Amino acid sequence: MIIILLGPPGAGKGTQAGAIAEKFNIPHISTGDIFRANLKEGTPLGLEAKKYMDAGALVPDDLVVRLVADRLTAPDARPGALLDGFPRTEAQAGALSEYLRSSGRQVDHCVCLNVPDEALVARLSGRRMCRSCGASYHVVYSPPPAEGRCRCGGDIYQRDDDLESTIVNRLKVYHEQTSPLVAWYGQAGLLRPIDGQGTVDEIKNRIYAALGQG
Ligand code: AMP
Repeated sequence: MIIILLGPPGAGKGTQAGAIAEKFNIPHISTGDIFRANLKEGTPLGLEAKKYMDAGALVPDDLVVRLVADRLTAPDARPGALLDGFPRTEAQAGALSEYLRSSGRQVDHCVCLNVPDEALVARLSGRRMCRSCGASYHVVYSPPPAEGRCRCGGDIYQRDDDLESTIVNRLKVYHEQTSPLVAWYGQAGLLRPIDGQGTVDEIKNRIYAALGQG
């Protein structure tokens, strides 16, 4: 089962991903998380990706495609994967289809979380993350239990690319380069559009229903 989680930055992909991956017993593969983990470790991949991430731009296709193809060969991804934040361009989507076809697999569903831009800006500018477990908070809508501390005890921080100046560019990049994938997967009959506004549980249930697991 290969499921793609599509949607603009701040749509709630990271929030929903864990539950979906668990439900289908497949690994959650987030390219953004992989880049951030590499950056934290100071690897060449992380340092290369940082140049693009800080500007709200996309990391070059060939680098991301190689990374995902490599990750999909791991034994835990044999039954499938939940791809969060990948593909983000038509070139990436084409390369993914090609790669899956070569191993006798295919994309099963493309879940697209829809949220209007105004709501995304409010969500992203108030978003805070845990440095240890990756949990996501919001300064107004879901503050951490204690100032600056996650429920796991980790440090809370604001992602560099969640600064308001970068958010505008990330949304522009999404509309220009990623949103054409909605039509792409729609034509393939794989698109499962989801209203991304509501409580975490409401949205999760909409996703399950769209995936036939309601
Ligand atoms: P995310 O956590 O998914 O919002 O990703 C954070 C940043 O990582 C993005 O703004 C891009 O700079 C980079 N990134 C993540 N996934 C991709 C991808 N599939 N293609 C290109 N860049 C990506």
